[in-house]
Amino acid sequence: MAVSFDTEIQFLKGIGEKRAALLHKLGIDTVGDLLNHYPRDYIDLTEPVSALSADPTIPCAVRAMVLSKSGEQHIRKGLSVFKVRAVDPDGTELLLTFFNSKFTVDKLQVDEEYVFYGKVSGSLLRREMNTPLIFTLAEARQLIPVYPQTAGINSRFLAAEVRLALSGLLETLEETIPSDIKVQNQLCHLQYAIENIHFPASRHDMLIARRRLIFEELFTLSLALSAVRTARDTPAPVAMQPVEIEDFLDSLPFALTEAQLRSVREICGDLAGSTPMNRLLQGDVGSGKTVVAACACVFAARNHTQSALMAPTEILAAQHWETMQKFLAPIGLRVELLTGSTKASEKKRIRAALAAGEVDLVVGTHALISSGIEFSRLGLVITDEQHRFGVGQRIALGQKGQSPHTLVMSATPIPRTLALMIYGDLDISVIDTMPVGRLPVKTYAIDSAKRQRAYGYIKQHLDHGYQGYIICPLVEPGEVDLGLVPASEYAENLQKHDFADYRVGLLHGKMKAAEKDEVMRKFKDGEIDLLVATTVVEVGVDVPNAVIMLIENAERFGLSQLHQLRGRVGRGKVQSTCILLSDSKSQDAQIRLRTMCRTNSGFEVAEQDLKLRGPGDFFGQRQHGLPQFAIADLANDVELLSAARKAADQLLKADPGLTDPAHRAIRRKVDKMLAEIGDRPN
Ligand code: ADP
Ligand code: MG
Repeated sequence: MAVSFDTEIQFLKGIGEKRAALLHKLGIDTVGDLLNHYPRDYIDLTEPVSALSADPTIPCAVRAMVLSKSGEQHIRKGLSVFKVRAVDPDGTELLLTFFNSKFTVDKLQVDEEYVFYGKVSGSLLRREMNTPLIFTLAEARQLIPVYPQTAGINSRFLAAEVRLALSGLLETLEETIPSDIKVQNQLCHLQYAIENIHFPASRHDMLIARRRLIFEELFTLSLALSAVRTARDTPAPVAMQPVEIEDFLDSLPFALTEAQLRSVREICGDLAGSTPMNRLLQGDVGSGKTVVAACACVFAARNHTQSALMAPTEILAAQHWETMQKFLAPIGLRVELLTGSTKASEKKRIRAALAAGEVDLVVGTHALISSGIEFSRLGLVITDEQHRFGVGQRIALGQKGQSPHTLVMSATPIPRTLALMIYGDLDISVIDTMPVGRLPVKTYAIDSAKRQRAYGYIKQHLDHGYQGYIICPLVEPGEVDLGLVPASEYAENLQKHDFADYRVGLLHGKMKAAEKDEVMRKFKDGEIDLLVATTVVEVGVDVPNAVIMLIENAERFGLSQLHQLRGRVGRGKVQSTCILLSDSKSQDAQIRLRTMCRTNSGFEVAEQDLKLRGPGDFFGQRQHGLPQFAIADLANDVELLSAARKAADQLLKADPGLTDPAHRAIRRKVDKMLAEIGDRPN
């Protein structure tokens, strides 16, 4: 049977059903997937070193001739050792040790030369290598690919299968990037790229291949996202006229900040415009995005259209509903809550009211985009993002109405390059100032030698009637101990010893909802002075009288998480303090702690976090709505990204639907990516 790209992987020679199942774990289902499974690194054998000069701290390639092989020595049951003597071209002797590797050692021929790859140890007189990788001289003329692997499938096996697939298919690879774009961006051909990403003769060749493949991936992504936008933009926007909302602003218990007012103006301008709004509202935690969203809802309602607000969790949806109710009910708007746990009868009632146009704003979770919900006239869709909605879900809700305006609220600030990728060509409103009277939180990093002083400082605050938090890493009762004290034990100790004269409370994720509510109520009402908590307080806790926070084992938290946690204090008019306690000497941890001490800006924190972790980890690969990249890395490939976007625009101008037969290959790639984006689960 002739192998093609779409051939199921189990039919490739040497694979079969069992290995196919293992390969599936690596995302490899077809021969084409295998060719797109790129190496994560390479072993460079092209310049072997002498056994004497090998750096003992890193694996090195040493060329040597086998002198003799020992017989198998049984050390104990199940463990046998083989010793092989070899000599490098300088005459230095090298003793190689292998464990349980009869098959490998049998293949070594005395008097033959090989390249051995591993760490070299031993004395100057006798150098040694333990379980080195073995390569023939022919193999060693190239860089050896190291693939992401899984149990039962090693890199060498993958390399052999890739080679096999390539031998039959390389000529049939269809070029995906039009030649003019290739020339403009100095990109190599696809065949060259695929061959050299797997089996480059030199690092230089590999880099040329790599650059082309990264470009291709970002090019495909740009085209796919344009397709999403075009699909959404086709229907006419819901028409709105400029209307007054001054009276609503006057009805609020506070005056909006300049930044909030500017955002409201920008949003209302879009709503009254002739194309559908696609706007991101960025603002740090506590900057007051919700009330801006409320203004937009008022504007939409006065244009006789409905609004929908989606939150990532039921708790947040309920909170938003309460807040919106408080803002909007006084001016006569009707707000409803619809989530997965809404009772069936209640759901039915709300659905009917929505369809009849009696509801002005519906707040909910994904239940909002499940089928069966009809709006009378949906004009505005707001998502409170927290990066949990995929691009695909946004499309789904967009299709509900005529072509509603969309507003995305983002608590964690997204660096602009990434925002453009995720949301396409969108406009951004930024709330860059906090409501008046808020002071930036003072942040300090200390080690455990200063713990007692920190406790003393906390007590001073409690003595003045303020409250505080101590955050412990996620070790909850019943969880595996990682050498950390569980929050419950920690709280008990504090109550018994250091904070015996104060009321210490405990909040962690394993507690029942009712218990959590009770503890939160007590803390809010001032019946608890010091709350020991895990990261469950990260979102949604708002106690302005709590002005001091100590974070234990601060090195265990990511930057964005530390920033979210710190956002629990500094919510009133009093100077607040955050103390980061850590004994970690790791450089990465030090950078995180220093960043926290240096800045209160969520934007700076996010930029740094992105740099440290890359976008995959930054949002959690599944959460940002982008496909998993095979090779591109948005944090590092910014330049290629903008080149790829430009090229995509250029191609779409010439062939908007990618219907030209010459663009068949790229079209297929785009469709595949679109399917992936659309299918993305929450
Ligand atoms: P976020 O941007 O994190 O969603 P919220 O919208 O929850 O922030 O606002 C945080 C708090 O600040 C809320 O209690 C809100 O009522 C209050 N708030 C918002 N805007 C102002 C303002 N201009 N002046 C005073 N308080 C405000
Ligand atoms: Mg919010």
